[in-house]
Amino acid sequence: MTDDEIAFLYRALGRHRLTEANTGNVSARRGAGMAISATGIRVDTISAADIVTMDFAGNFDGATLPSSEWQMHAAIYQAAPEARVIIHTHADAAVALSCLDEGLPPFHYMLAEFGGPDVRCAPYATFGTAALAAHAARAIAGRSACLLAHHGMICHGPSGEAALTNAVKLEMLCRQYLLARAAGPVRCLSEADMQAALARYATYGQQPGRQA
Ligand SMILES: [Zn+2]
Repeated sequence: MTDDEIAFLYRALGRHRLTEANTGNVSARRGAGMAISATGIRVDTISAADIVTMDFAGNFDGATLPSSEWQMHAAIYQAAPEARVIIHTHADAAVALSCLDEGLPPFHYMLAEFGGPDVRCAPYATFGTAALAAHAARAIAGRSACLLAHHGMICHGPSGEAALTNAVKLEMLCRQYLLARAAGPVRCLSEADMQAALARYATYGQQPGRQA
């Protein structure tokens, strides 16, 4: 993705009400490193000048500092080769659920879209630390998203559009789960139900003759 496309993706988070003010950050894999939104940028004013190209050890050129959460992005790119774009936000429902120190159980078949029967919640650690990065990389392993306790969500995808779709769907599912919890005890789907959904997703949404 170009710097312009990364800035556009960040602004799209605002349009989808997934981020406000200067919370959240986005990045795209670039060469042996990544391009990530700068620290302190705002969703309403971000531009290509606010994107920092850096390696996974924290080295970058220029005077613009990368997001304070660059280590979390770097850890996930290094652990998950399929991750091309990463989105981190403080979206309302994801934050609310993360404050219960809980992820999403298999209450809805769409959980399978994230690669398994659940979406985990990484334990709390101070923002911007290597400890948080390690927790997030562990919680997201084998999935394309996880929650971060008392903080928010992080997700990845093979493209900007796919990562944005993941973020929108994760926030929607967190909202729906909290609604169900408020209505009564939630009955989760069985392991067999989730395995069937995972198998179904292997071919879902693909038009004949088109690349997935
Ligand atoms: Zn954050």
